[in-house]
Amino acid sequence: NLKKHFPLKSKHMFSKDKPVLKAVDGISFSVQAGETLGLVGESGCGKSTAGRSILKLLEPTEGEIYFKGEDITSFRGEKIRKLRKEMQIIFQDPYASLNPRKTIEKIITEPMKIFNIPKEERNSKLERLLDVVGLNSHHKHRYPHEFSGGQRQRIGIARSLALDPELVICDEPVSALDVSIQAQVINLMEDLQEEFNLTYVFIAHDLSVVHHISDRVAVMYLGELVEIAEVNELYSSPKHPYTQALLSAVPETNTQQEKQRIILTGDLPSPANPPKGCKFHTRCPYAEAICRTKEPKLKQVSSDGQMAACHFVKEVVEN
Ligand code: SF4
Ligand code: MG
Repeated sequence: NLKKHFPLKSKHMFSKDKPVLKAVDGISFSVQAGETLGLVGESGCGKSTAGRSILKLLEPTEGEIYFKGEDITSFRGEKIRKLRKEMQIIFQDPYASLNPRKTIEKIITEPMKIFNIPKEERNSKLERLLDVVGLNSHHKHRYPHEFSGGQRQRIGIARSLALDPELVICDEPVSALDVSIQAQVINLMEDLQEEFNLTYVFIAHDLSVVHHISDRVAVMYLGELVEIAEVNELYSSPKHPYTQALLSAVPETNTQQEKQRIILTGDLPSPANPPKGCKFHTRCPYAEAICRTKEPKLKQVSSDGQMAACHFVKEVVEN
């Protein structure tokens, strides 16, 4: 039931309700060791905020976060520092996330220095990391601007692996890259997952990017989860109208039949002032009166654990 609300400045100084932006508003999910969970939704839906909250880069407003069975919600200071060894993040923008004044060697070995890992170990780790991400020893004395976007993301990935983390939150790691480079980086991340036993939360704004790499996919809309399912289930039989709309926008390469394109009407509402009832009702082609007043709960909708939050999807009760 993770929530992250950001306070907003009130226009009415004396109003009692303090306005908040409900970036993440009560989401629950689990990620198994070795799994990749795709976390998808339009920009502003709260997926990055969710990722950063899991890592404790942001303080959650409400709810709990467990890592390997331990409640880390109230971790502070040194305990969070130790967590950094086990949980890392890869950022969307390799241009902005690498310090332009540092060499590749400095950038990649910095996390190890912070944890007082001896120099020899740092150096041998550096060579190995350069190698596994497809760079080499000649690159280490160069600066970020000397590399292409794809190479910079490889550097960011190498740095994220410097401390042998178990969980890596990948926050749109390929969104800033050319389409031709995206597949290479995704393939690399899959190889690394095997080699280093990594667990991924892979954040993306479009469903085509996470299809290949994910085991399960969770779809967010305005701070809430609207659907979560095993990857093939979600792509072959999406249950929530929002997932259906996102999928119908994905260009298909092997179409047997023309897909019915669902066009979403209206803009994405502001998370500072989300619609009542089902938050999707202002754009949903199937909305009825009940959708404007009653919020649908995330419920199990297929016998294999697919869950969706919509009044008109039939609940399946497992026995
Ligand atoms: Fe659409 Fe209503 Fe289902 Fe929401 S609850 S997704 S508005 S049909
Ligand atoms: Mg984001």
